[in-house]
Amino acid sequence: MKPHFESRPSGIDTQNARRGERPRFDRLLRLPPDVQAAWEAEFGERRIRHIRFHIVFGLFFYNLYNVTSIVLMPDILWQSVMLRVFLVVPTGLLLGWAVVRTSPALREHALTASLFCAFATPIGLFLWSGAPLVSYMLGEMTIIMVFVTVLMNISFPHALVFCSLALFTWVGAIAMKTDLSADLQFALTVQAVTSVVFCLLANYHIARQRCVDFLRSYNERQRAETAEVMMQEMTHIAKTDPLTGLPNRRFLDEHLERWTRSQPGVAVLLVDIDHFKSFNDTLGHPAGDDCLRRVAAILNSIQDLPDRFVARIGGEEFTIALRHVTVFDAARIGTALVRAVAEARLPHPGRPDGKPFVTVSMGLNTSAPGETTTPRQLVSGADEALYLAKERGRNQLVRAKATTFGPLAQTA
Ligand code: GH3
Ligand code: MG
Ligand code: MG
Repeated sequence: MKPHFESRPSGIDTQNARRGERPRFDRLLRLPPDVQAAWEAEFGERRIRHIRFHIVFGLFFYNLYNVTSIVLMPDILWQSVMLRVFLVVPTGLLLGWAVVRTSPALREHALTASLFCAFATPIGLFLWSGAPLVSYMLGEMTIIMVFVTVLMNISFPHALVFCSLALFTWVGAIAMKTDLSADLQFALTVQAVTSVVFCLLANYHIARQRCVDFLRSYNERQRAETAEVMMQEMTHIAKTDPLTGLPNRRFLDEHLERWTRSQPGVAVLLVDIDHFKSFNDTLGHPAGDDCLRRVAAILNSIQDLPDRFVARIGGEEFTIALRHVTVFDAARIGTALVRAVAEARLPHPGRPDGKPFVTVSMGLNTSAPGETTTPRQLVSGADEALYLAKERGRNQLVRAKATTFGPLAQTA
């Protein structure tokens, strides 16, 4: 059957919302996949812009340390310049190009890996250089840590991996630098550990707040959408006949009200199943219900009319409203439906008139273009015509105000 209602809005998990389940993040501040996908849909583009801007911004300052190398590592100045300019800069630019071309997860993995490459390069230079002031260049490592964990806004799991690797590399390099005194090695190690722990903690607080804020707005939207879906479902229930799934009288009234107000030339076909009481009496109420569903399906089977509205208005009565058709078309469609019900050969063994099949009678009324006709006038005209159809022997269509139109569809 043609659906009469809009489908519900999509995107948010209303099933969970209805069960009262709120999405949460885990200990590593990871959001559930569907919430993460919603985050990406909302902020993905902004995240890419953020990464690209900070790559350029970071590379600029990163290369300023080529200048500090003149003082701190003059023995390997060229190596320092070459590594920064020909390894780290191209890696950063490649990353900036790739971030829009990969999945969000891969984008974040690649970003963390590239940042670690930028971190490990000065550590390598520190090990390589034998210059007396080389220990001072380790101050750069803290700055890189801040850049990665705070400015780059990487997720907490990524920060955890990055910080673990950074700590291992940093402390390991200090330990391997045997030309430093043990006291200096100890002091530098304490600095390294403090930097890493503080930066990781800062990242945790920022990432946690981000998750809390996003989940709050996500849950609010989810609540609003669930309420909207429930409203739609309630409206659907209030306007639907549960037996046949067709719109009910309330929905028909609304429709006719709108159609008669905005558009002249509405046709109303009032349909009533003939001798339906005796059908129930003979075959039982459940069989009667089944018959109602089958007749409803036949009446609702006209496919090529966009402006039609089929409703069950109560008992064994239906209404078909049509728009943008002539009186003759409406009569033709109604007659075809009367015939279609009869030709369906639904057995009706208890008919007082002896006919063996289910039939329907129809009354047709139309609002003429240029005239103001209310839905009530339309339906009551169709009702009078239906009464005539019953009087004239049933299984036929009669048009209101035009008794010369005559009976149609004597098929059963
Ligand atoms: P007529 O040809 O003059 O229309 O005769 P009729 O027997 O169809 O009309 P009447 O108004 O006397 O009977 C209508 C019957 O429709 C009475 C009732 O048992 C039946 N009916 C109404 N609603 C339902 C329903 O939801 N399910 C079933 N099975 N029967 C219903
Ligand atoms: Mg009736
Ligand atoms: Mg009837």
